[in-house]
Amino acid sequence: MTKGKLFVISGPSGTGKGTICKYILDQRTNIRLSVSMTTRDPRQGEVDKVHYHFTDHDAFRNLIEEDGFLEYASVFGNYYGTPRKQVMDWLEKGIDVILEIDVQGALQVKKSYPESILIFILPPSMEELRCRITGRGTETEEAISRRLGAAMQEIEAVGKYDYSVVNDELQKAVDSVKAIISAEQCRLNEEDAEFIINKYKEDL
Ligand code: ADP
Ligand code: 5GP
Repeated sequence: MTKGKLFVISGPSGTGKGTICKYILDQRTNIRLSVSMTTRDPRQGEVDKVHYHFTDHDAFRNLIEEDGFLEYASVFGNYYGTPRKQVMDWLEKGIDVILEIDVQGALQVKKSYPESILIFILPPSMEELRCRITGRGTETEEAISRRLGAAMQEIEAVGKYDYSVVNDELQKAVDSVKAIISAEQCRLNEEDAEFIINKYKEDL
């Protein structure tokens, strides 16, 4: 069996990453979303262990010390991180995984796991980004300004990504991400080639 592929979807807060991931996961059964750990409070409707593993600073720090995160970052005053074990278990079993994380985390993943595939979701414009964050209704005015300030800094990292997708029309953006995933699932590396050759030899 060959290893699963690790897809990292990131981009500024409010750009539509969560919405796009939800569509992808609803339409594909052979890919899993990693559930991150965070020290931020749950929003209305968010469920522990489904949307995030909600935790406190001490528990988060303990996991950092145990090297239990594939990546972690401080985002808008809270910690967010990807628990390493679940992701690695899935990849070892040949299951593809999506991480929906911020840009700092994405660049850490690329460094420690160079085979990862980084997809940057761009807003059509900064103005539209403000509308989306405001429309989501989950942030205070101060938090919105902070998120917009951070967005431009994040967009400056787009050149380090493998792909960029503008989330203008939602369905088009979902189709583009699906196309990237499909193409990458067919991409060959040496390990894949050996696996394929052996499989066909066994059939002879
Ligand atoms: P993120 O996960 O990147 O923070 P969300 O997925 O929560 O962003 O989307 C932010 C808001 O923008 C949500 O209210 C969502 O419904 C809306 N949204 C997402 N994609 C589009 C789109 N293509 N056109 C218009 N609104 C969108
Ligand atoms: P939110 O508070 O809106 O759920 O998330 C804020 C930001 O943190 C988003 O950009 C989101 O992608 C990012 N994020 C969520 N989980 C993780 C994670 O595990 N690691 C990192 N680095 N960022 C994360």
